[in-house]
Amino acid sequence: MGLFDRGVKKTKEGFFQRLSRSIIGKSKVDDSVLDAIEEALVASDMGVDTTLKIVDSLEERVSKDRYMSFDELVDMLRDEIGTLLDIDGEESPKEPFDLTKKPLVVMVVGVNGVGKTTTIGKLAARYKAMGKKVMIGAADTFRAAAAEQLTVWADRAGCDIVRHEEGSDPAMGADPASVAFDTVKSAVAKGADVVLIDTAGRLHNRIDLMNELTKIRNVMRKVIPDAPHEVLLVLDASTGQNAYQQAKEFSRATDITSLAITKLDGTAKGGVVIGIVDQLKVPVKFIGIGEGIDDLKVFDKKEFVGSLFSREDIDK
Ligand code: GDP
Ligand code: GDP
Ligand code: MG
Repeated sequence: MGLFDRGVKKTKEGFFQRLSRSIIGKSKVDDSVLDAIEEALVASDMGVDTTLKIVDSLEERVSKDRYMSFDELVDMLRDEIGTLLDIDGEESPKEPFDLTKKPLVVMVVGVNGVGKTTTIGKLAARYKAMGKKVMIGAADTFRAAAAEQLTVWADRAGCDIVRHEEGSDPAMGADPASVAFDTVKSAVAKGADVVLIDTAGRLHNRIDLMNELTKIRNVMRKVIPDAPHEVLLVLDASTGQNAYQQAKEFSRATDITSLAITKLDGTAKGGVVIGIVDQLKVPVKFIGIGEGIDDLKVFDKKEFVGSLFSREDIDK
């Protein structure tokens, strides 16, 4: 069992079922087979541009030898995707963030419901397990229950949380930037290693809310001039092409340094990860494969492609 097997199970099943349904019994790779591959790739949400790149180079290869087995075809497809993502290039690091920063400050952003708070809980547990002192900042002051939910995660992970009491400043409402400021100040005072800042869900096209992110960033810099060291955009894989769109538009509206792609466990749209890695300049650093505290993996493109194409548990 590879590391990502649970995360890519549905994507893989959907993909191979589609593929085998349309090409079973054929020994010749004709246009209808290539069309079927194209359809299967698009259905896995790899995105049209990435799909076309793959199908084009596949077409070139099979033009030389049109007779092949299903297995040979699948191997070829895996190679093409691997080449496209340069999986034989630089190894993915075991730890994607720069832990020489002390504290390392990570600001987590994204639209509502993608899994920001959950990912923070998982990250807190990950760094705690590595022996790091972790501090969480509850800068999602928009939803009343947000700080409660984050406190539950902080307790689970066994780390400190900075939150402002509801109604502590009735004239203003709790202010996300001041929570972020207090969090990094306290982190420095207490010698924390990792600071994780939760933020409210927002859409890239709300200028006021994007400006709020800038404000959060700026106040943290009063304490730590190069903070935040990471701005982690969280995307929900099950939204498919929407996730892709969000990644593009968020990085246009604000400086995103890395991506976490969640909910891969529940979706057949896992191809979106490949599309994003191929199309965007921003690296995917983590993937979420469940709701539990341990259901976060460091993203490794080589292992990801390997899991997607390992056929031991596939009934074709
Ligand atoms: P936020 O609004 O971005 O903070 O999202 P939350 O962290 O509150 O998560 C929204 C929902 O998505 C919750 O029900 C989470 O349990 C769920 N969730 C988050 N990450 C994952 C994941 O990787 N897999 C699954 N299946 N559910 C997830
Ligand atoms: P409207 O969209 O201007 O009508 O405002 P809303 O009634 O939706 O919300 C009032 C204020 O809350 C807005 O001016 C925003 O500053 C803020 N707000 C609204 N939606 C969100 C959101 O999803 N996230 C955050 N952080 N703030 C929001
Ligand atoms: Mg949240």
